[in-house]
Amino acid sequence: MAGEKTVLVVGGGISGITAAVEAAEVGCKVILVERLPYLGGRVARMNKYFPKLCPPTCGLEINFKRIRKNTDITVYTLATVENISGTTGSYTATIKIMPRCIEDRSGTSKCVEDCPVEIPNEFNYGMDMTKAVRLPYEMAYPMNLVADADALRKAQGSTDFNDFVQSLESRGIKLDLDAKPEIFTVNVSSVVWATGWVPYDATRLDKLGFGKFPNVITNVMMERLAAKSGPTCGEIVRPSDGKKVYNLAFVQCAGSRDENHLPYCSSICCLASLKQATYLRDYNPDAEAHIFYIDLRAYGRFEYFFDRVRNDEKIHLTKGKIVNVFEDPVTHDVIVEGEDILSGSRIRSTFDMVVLATGMQPNTSLEKVPANGVSYDEYGFLVSDDGIHAAGVTKRPMDVGTCLQDSTGAALKALQDTVGR
Ligand SMILES: Cc1cc2nc3c(=O)[nH]c(=O)nc-3n(C[C@H](O)[C@H](O)[C@H](O)COP(=O)(O)OP(=O)(O)OC[C@H]3O[C@@H](n4cnc5c(N)ncnc54)[C@H](O)[C@@H]3O)c2cc1C
Repeated sequence: MAGEKTVLVVGGGISGITAAVEAAEVGCKVILVERLPYLGGRVARMNKYFPKLCPPTCGLEINFKRIRKNTDITVYTLATVENISGTTGSYTATIKIMPRCIEDRSGTSKCVEDCPVEIPNEFNYGMDMTKAVRLPYEMAYPMNLVADADALRKAQGSTDFNDFVQSLESRGIKLDLDAKPEIFTVNVSSVVWATGWVPYDATRLDKLGFGKFPNVITNVMMERLAAKSGPTCGEIVRPSDGKKVYNLAFVQCAGSRDENHLPYCSSICCLASLKQATYLRDYNPDAEAHIFYIDLRAYGRFEYFFDRVRNDEKIHLTKGKIVNVFEDPVTHDVIVEGEDILSGSRIRSTFDMVVLATGMQPNTSLEKVPANGVSYDEYGFLVSDDGIHAAGVTKRPMDVGTCLQDSTGAALKALQDTVGR
């Protein structure tokens, strides 16, 4: 197992991947630990990136290639770090790897269509179902199947299940529902913590209707809805009835800058909604998008992106605070109510669908680094300490470009620990 000059990177999103390749490409050994069965984090689930509006696979594929060809990087997926002890320059970390429950030596990973068991598709934020034996997504790295043992166990013994197991075996694929987790320790000199974020839980925003009304969705769901690989193959249609969306509202700061929820600004939600308004306009040129905002924030070079989008006469920007979202029980249209801040008049408008622009909550606010003496700010973002360096959204909300810079910086700090200071 790796020795002294090894950097442990926890979290395989764009920030963790960047820190890992930057450290490895100057000759350091790296262990990259990711909880999900694939690398890429939230970015892998985006439709397009602002400001260039290119697909996320562009950036991810280049990095996967860098990982693939660098023998100094060891990647563990379905893995977490259970404990870290020691001090800067010399840590011992305990890693736990959950089993994939399937061994595929066939290279025919996509042949799982006949799996009889379906589970909610977590990759598409539960908007559709997927097979319990699956490739996590079509560009997944590593390109390996994963099986949901709990779901499959319920079907064990049925004819469909037995037929499926036989069909897998005939293709050289073996299910192992009793596989056990693996636990081991590694010695490393430094740690980069890049566990990123979760979307703020929109069911906590009682007045905004998420979870009660099917045509109220969140911004991360909108990414999947617009994606060709998403639940509707890129058709922007209403969850309630599959009707094409003509009239869409975005409610900005849904739970953000609010003392009862996330008191801070996530800095990218305005840009994300501007971007998503272009998804709708590209998909349906007759459609209109309405963005209700408190302040529209497009910092630095993103000002040009904002200008480009606001020139579209079918994208309407209203400075207004939405306080109530409900539905017409017959049509399932969504009604938003609030105040137009500039005119002081009341807003009451009806839409086919509403997107709540929820913010980014750091994973470290929910699950701490398993080491002593690590500090956090008042919102749970990780404050870098000697030897344990935060990277990307673990540190504060940021866009992908800033994550790349930040994570490169974190890799440099980690390298300094490997040589001593
Ligand atoms: C709706 C929306 C749209 C956006 N669109 C854009 C855009 O167009 N352009 C742009 O520049 N930015 C965009 N962003 C911001 C972008 O998503 C973030 O900058 C990016 O996801 C940050 O990457 P990260 O690696 O820091 O975190 P993440 O993407 O969250 O990656 C963290 C990784 O760590 C893993 N992990 C978590 N906990 C553990 C653990 N305990 N152990 C091991 N692994 C763990 C996770 O599974 C994940 O793979 C958008 C954000 C939102 C909300």
